[in-house]
Amino acid sequence: MRVLLLSDIHANLPALEAVLADAEGSGVESVWVLGDIVGYGADPNAVVELLRKAGASAVLGNHDAAALGRVGTESFNPLAAEAARWTASVLGPESRAWLESLPEVRREHGVTLCHGTLREPLWEYLFTAEAARAHFALQTTGLSIVGHTHVPLLLVERGGEIEALWPKAGERLRLPSTGRACLNPGSVGQPRDGDPRAAYALLDLSEGWFELRRAAYPVSEAQRRIRAAGLPEPLALRLALGR
Ligand code: ZN
Repeated sequence: MRVLLLSDIHANLPALEAVLADAEGSGVESVWVLGDIVGYGADPNAVVELLRKAGASAVLGNHDAAALGRVGTESFNPLAAEAARWTASVLGPESRAWLESLPEVRREHGVTLCHGTLREPLWEYLFTAEAARAHFALQTTGLSIVGHTHVPLLLVERGGEIEALWPKAGERLRLPSTGRACLNPGSVGQPRDGDPRAAYALLDLSEGWFELRRAAYPVSEAQRRIRAAGLPEPLALRLALGR
């Protein structure tokens, strides 16, 4: 069972299209999406439609919840809040209904999926050892997959010890046969690890490996769409920096 892992697409259609093209021919049977499907980028409806066509299993992210009006944007920075209001204003009924149907936590083939952490699925960043411990304490499956930080990461927990591995693109990492693991495939639509290429991952549950991948995409086209939509300029600029 081979799965395409996508997170933090953030309505970046050129990045999503590049990732889907890059993953073609790699034997993917399912698509799992770790939230923040919309927000920041200019193509929320087209992105949702592509994911629906792909039969993706997704969870809700904080930006999705904000676009649906389910949570306030007080804790968002002003740019993110403006993007959330814009997204809410353009979201079509089908996109809205699909996003509305997404749970905050789901289990697929014995794997737990959520956007942030199991302690706070919408909001918490799995960046600190304390958050990781709290997350693993609530993880009842061997493997979990998260997003939200926009930085690729593999955490392995054994006997209370947590090891962090920073996966490199193209490197196939074995999933641990003992203990538990948590994966973050990085961000498709707004990478923040200094590499502007779209990040995604392949996960093979039968063979027990995870591979981070990077796909170059026309960043200038995503920027042009952000500007044409009247979204804040820094949201266009950051895409070229991968920050
Ligand atoms: Zn995000």
